[in-house]
Amino acid sequence: MTTSTQAGEPLITRSGNSSVANIRLQQGSNADFRYYEGNDSRGSYASTDGHGRGYIFLDYRQNQQYDSTRVTAHETGHVLGLPDHYSGPCSELMSGGGPGTSCRNANPDANERARVNQLWANGLAAAMDKALEKSGR
Ligand SMILES: [Zn+2]
Repeated sequence: MTTSTQAGEPLITRSGNSSVANIRLQQGSNADFRYYEGNDSRGSYASTDGHGRGYIFLDYRQNQQYDSTRVTAHETGHVLGLPDHYSGPCSELMSGGGPGTSCRNANPDANERARVNQLWANGLAAAMDKALEKSGR
């Protein structure tokens, strides 16, 4: 099931506006990435190049256990290039399940916003170049 309108708020609002200035998500048949949902023992995950392409899988059980909006926003963070940081506080989106099931924050903190804006400052091509540089390819 494609649920591209159910992107995590308020990282991304239903109108497609995101809290990071350089990104605007639009719903469409030619989407760069999609949301799916179902049951998977691995939990939710993002299958992505980290540059806006791929898909996000949302596991039903995990989304009952953890705040669903936070899970969705977190996985979207991966699509936008953010890595996991499980040791971080609840105020960080990418700390994921680290702070426990009571954490309901679905907003990236200032550092995470800055990181995404930096990666996407000059658009997708520049973000790609930067990432390939970083990985030494
Ligand atoms: Zn993660």
